[in-house]
Amino acid sequence: MKHGIPTILMIAATGLILACFTASLLPAAAEPPALAKKNMDLKIRPGDDFFRYANGAWIRDLAMPADKSEYDAFDQVREQNRARLHDLFESLAAGSAQAAKGTAAQKVGDFYAMAMDAAGIEALGSTPLDADLARIAKAATIAEIEDLVAAFHRENLPILFGSGVEVDLMNSNAYGYYLAQSGLGMPDRDYYTRDDSDARKLREQYAVHVTAMLALLGASPEGAAAAAKTVLEIETRLARASKTRVEMRNIPGLYNKMTLAQLQELSPGFDWGRYLKNIGRPDIGDLIVTAPGFFKEMGAMLKEVSLADWKTYMRWQALNAYAPYLSSAFVNENFNFYSRALEGTQEIEERWKRMTSLTSGSLDQLVGEMYVEKYFPPACKQRMEELCGHVKKAFETRLRGLPWMSEATRRQALEKLQSMRIEVGYPDKWEDYGKLEIGRESLLDNLRRSGRFAFQKNLDQLGKPVDTSKWDMAPQIVNAGYNPVYNKMIFPAGILQPPFFFAEADDAVNYGAIGMAIGHEMSHGFDDQGRWFDKDGNMRDWWTPEDSEKFKQQTKLLVEQYGAFTTEDGVHVNGELSLGENIADYAGLTMSLAGYHLSLQGKEAPKAIDGFSGDQRFFLSFAQVWRGKIRPEALKKKIQEDVHPWGEFRVNGAPFNVPEFYDVFNIQPGAKLYRAPEQRPSIW
Ligand SMILES: [Zn+2]
Repeated sequence: MKHGIPTILMIAATGLILACFTASLLPAAAEPPALAKKNMDLKIRPGDDFFRYANGAWIRDLAMPADKSEYDAFDQVREQNRARLHDLFESLAAGSAQAAKGTAAQKVGDFYAMAMDAAGIEALGSTPLDADLARIAKAATIAEIEDLVAAFHRENLPILFGSGVEVDLMNSNAYGYYLAQSGLGMPDRDYYTRDDSDARKLREQYAVHVTAMLALLGASPEGAAAAAKTVLEIETRLARASKTRVEMRNIPGLYNKMTLAQLQELSPGFDWGRYLKNIGRPDIGDLIVTAPGFFKEMGAMLKEVSLADWKTYMRWQALNAYAPYLSSAFVNENFNFYSRALEGTQEIEERWKRMTSLTSGSLDQLVGEMYVEKYFPPACKQRMEELCGHVKKAFETRLRGLPWMSEATRRQALEKLQSMRIEVGYPDKWEDYGKLEIGRESLLDNLRRSGRFAFQKNLDQLGKPVDTSKWDMAPQIVNAGYNPVYNKMIFPAGILQPPFFFAEADDAVNYGAIGMAIGHEMSHGFDDQGRWFDKDGNMRDWWTPEDSEKFKQQTKLLVEQYGAFTTEDGVHVNGELSLGENIADYAGLTMSLAGYHLSLQGKEAPKAIDGFSGDQRFFLSFAQVWRGKIRPEALKKKIQEDVHPWGEFRVNGAPFNVPEFYDVFNIQPGAKLYRAPEQRPSIW
């Protein structure tokens, strides 16, 4: 919610894992070539706790780093990628003063150099915000507040609400202009509305935090406390009108196309024509409103809440957006709430770690191109295509044989699968950064420029033909994704490394790790969200009503299964929020196992390694990819906000729905996680 393109559609990146936190350096424990037997706890029975059977020794031996809220295999790879980027940025920063103006080397080098200029940033204090704060102080009408909202949006900060361009869900050949709910200081609307003791405590801590931050800007203690109360009142009203994360998963509910006049009627307190003029696109005629209830309430609030209170809210929002990049007093207080209180992290990461991540995130593909050139061997692409081929073939065979699916639905499902594209490593066409200027004035100057560049680049798509070569993930990212409007999966270079992908290891290990991820992403095209899109990426219900009903009945089992997992103090996983991911894990394992078996046809049966058969290594590899340790606060936060379940729930959930798993590990009734066949969903 800080810097970056606002997530207009929650579906835009149904990635394998979404949490984009940063990782720190662990004491170097060299990753073994493939499956690590030493990570396992062989005293535990696989059917009682598969997660700890596969990872028990690793979990026991890991000392949680003080600057992390969770640590898993993704972090290990992120850490390695970050160290590589750090080396690259350091050398570019040293030479960028001499680099020709406008080159990638100059832009990346200068951005990083300014980000690392701790003394300069310290000396500036909060002065980089002075002009913004003065404009807010001077605002004499609500219309001027609205002008300020547009000005912040142009810096890519979704203050009050978010707006931007995405493919029109009903017409994948054209772009649409979207409005989305936003405007909160805490990361989810439920933090404002829940009535349990955890939520009440967090609200108190948030009020203390807002007070402390405004005091740092020079407010008196009483003034700051009163302002914090106002901020919470405004944000709570916005939160109550916001959709829940489960509601946001309802795809058709996001699509509310309106004319400007209709929007003005829905949300009369805000001058929408003026806003469009302010962002430089007065020509926009239709808008797609993802949360009409939010905009109705926002419009009412602009009439009812006083100008003085709006000025307080704007002051806080502007400060909060840029706080991590100001002097240390602001940075540390920001850490206190967002990392310590919300996630349990004990220490802030060193500057170079934070700023390497910031540079990579802000300059995205400009950095990606450099990363790929140096660290992505072309041979990866070929092996990945081979793996994908087998998993896709397995998916097709399954689809053809599904007893519950009608021929009408099946035909279209097969078409969709055939049209599904896969892109590996990096995009075919790199983004053009020619218009982005980066200099050596200050970090904040560069951040604003990169924010303006990103907002404008997004806006400029409107009216142009849809570019399906676009990636919504940087190549250096350790993640994967499926985008339903392009009907395309992407596997960035960043994830194609151990323990996800091994160029040299046996097939079982690769199918259990990256192969499962391929099946997972593929199945997002057919899960409770992806199934709303046809092969061309248009939102259309191509399922027969009977098939929809049967699908829903089967997924109910998954909602209940995952809802039964809890934290140590009894907070339940949200089975509805994580449903798409849980369907995808179940499908991913099923398809990848079948793909692995396909790949063995005509070959000699694989020999056991370390005493484990090929099929055992398949499941163990899956389980080891999801190893991890998490702080209690962070686990609760994840359950609240993340569609992706924590690794333990993934590993102790999905395999127990795959019939072959029971034979492979000889799991019998009576084992703690045993599920009788009728309790297992039969979707794919
Ligand atoms: Zn996923």
